[in-house]
Amino acid sequence: MSHNPVPPFERRDDVGHFINGRVHVTSAARSQPVYNPATGQVARQVQLACAADVEAAVAAAQAAFPAWADAQPLRRARVMFKFLELLHAHKDELAAMITAEHGKVFTDAQGEVARGIDIVEFACGAPQLLKGDFSDQVSSGMDNWTLRQPLGVVAGITPFNFPFMVPMWMAPLALVTGNTFILKPSERDPSPSLFVAELLQRAGLPDGVFNVLQGDKLAVDGLLHHPDVKALSFVGSTPIAQYIYQNGAAQGKRVQALGGAKNHMVVMPDADVEQAVDALIGAAYGSAGERCMAISVAVLVGDVADRIIPAVAERARRLKIKNGMELDAEMGPIVSREARDRIERCIALGVEEGAQLVVDGRGLTVPGLEGGFFTGGTLFDHVRPEMRIYREEIFGPVLACVRVPDFAAAVDLVNTHEFGNGVACYTSDGHIAREFVRRIQVGMVGINVPIPVPMAWQGFGGWKKSLFGDMHAYGEEGVRFYTKQKSVMQRWPASVAKGAEFVMPTSR
Ligand code: NAD
Repeated sequence: MSHNPVPPFERRDDVGHFINGRVHVTSAARSQPVYNPATGQVARQVQLACAADVEAAVAAAQAAFPAWADAQPLRRARVMFKFLELLHAHKDELAAMITAEHGKVFTDAQGEVARGIDIVEFACGAPQLLKGDFSDQVSSGMDNWTLRQPLGVVAGITPFNFPFMVPMWMAPLALVTGNTFILKPSERDPSPSLFVAELLQRAGLPDGVFNVLQGDKLAVDGLLHHPDVKALSFVGSTPIAQYIYQNGAAQGKRVQALGGAKNHMVVMPDADVEQAVDALIGAAYGSAGERCMAISVAVLVGDVADRIIPAVAERARRLKIKNGMELDAEMGPIVSREARDRIERCIALGVEEGAQLVVDGRGLTVPGLEGGFFTGGTLFDHVRPEMRIYREEIFGPVLACVRVPDFAAAVDLVNTHEFGNGVACYTSDGHIAREFVRRIQVGMVGINVPIPVPMAWQGFGGWKKSLFGDMHAYGEEGVRFYTKQKSVMQRWPASVAKGAEFVMPTSR
């Protein structure tokens, strides 16, 4: 079945910035090609911001801030409700746009859109989310209460792998809490962000409240060093996350910077093998392994390896790898030629390091799509912890199997890795599951769930080198990240005692 009801995304003109309610495209601007990774052809160009564009975006957001911050939370929420309606009306168009520039299969892109929409729904509860606490009568005639106020202009810098969902981790909550926002999406798949800007405008968002700055390091550095940008949310690779965190914090900005990952799935000998194999196939090769929550290491405990590896190998060889717009595709291309070549170099490195290459995905050509950036699913056995293919993030469809003797060794292995984004444990033993949850040094844990991405109201964030900063993306921590708490104590003249007080006030 390959009939596709969704028209392909065919916009040819340059993808511009969206500043103060208008799309900006300048013929003299720096730009770079945006590819269709399935064909390998240039589909359009994206503009790359210069210092003046950064200045214009920040100025627009700064000018829009006072009125938006002063708007009733319910009014802001109503814009979000309208945006939600428009997203539902255009969700397949958005998914097709994602597939056209990222390459992931269309049904997976639909899943990305759905998970992004979840957070927009959560943000619709702004009046409830912004409620403060009230303590009556903390002293005679005196009350103490808190309110949460927006920070000002805030920016989001996002990776290529979720061009809609990750911006939705940030913008909806930043906006409903009264901030104005500048999104700097990945230059590899920039179109969904521009579409989001158009939909927000149609939903009634005032000009300047949400802006998109297309670009590269120059745009990021411009935002990072701008005194009017009060907070930065970043999602991307660990070296850049660390750079953003250190430089942003040094300038007194609030920063949440989510980095890379190497997610393990521990399979205990008592696990349901069929379920574990299904989970490994989907979580290692889905979205061609270009997910920060993809499983890239299978930790096989005891004799379970001999039951798991042949089954995974057989399925990896049969993956349906096609243009993501084909509805029966299981895996699409890699996002870029450079990324595909880097992944294939990592596979060569694994062979040099002495891991056993069970399935080799290199050199795959898809008939009719000879120029596409494809590579097949790859499987390594006998991977050891000192190997670079174990330690480093590959971010492609490469699954490394590490054999360990027992549960304690599995937990130790996971806990000594420098990343701590997601982890899973497959078992049918409740005690093992409980011990795993309590002992594991990772931010997001799945018990018989391979990709435990928390729900919109729970918040997303890893540990160790997978997150720099204290607060997670979205959920209640997202609301806290985008607001400052103000504490107020109040009394009225009738309850104020006469005379100056020279001692520390206490509750009376
Ligand atoms: P990336 O770090 O290359 O780029 C992320 C963003 O930073 C982009 O907007 C890019 O333009 C910008 N950028 C790139 N180089 C820069 C530089 N030198 N200075 C300033 N800005 C720069 O990441 P990517 O390749 O787009 O995305 C894949 C990475 O993102 C993987 O490491 C993946 O694990 C990670 N990721 C993490 C999470 C998470 O939640 N922890 C989620 C998604 C992706």
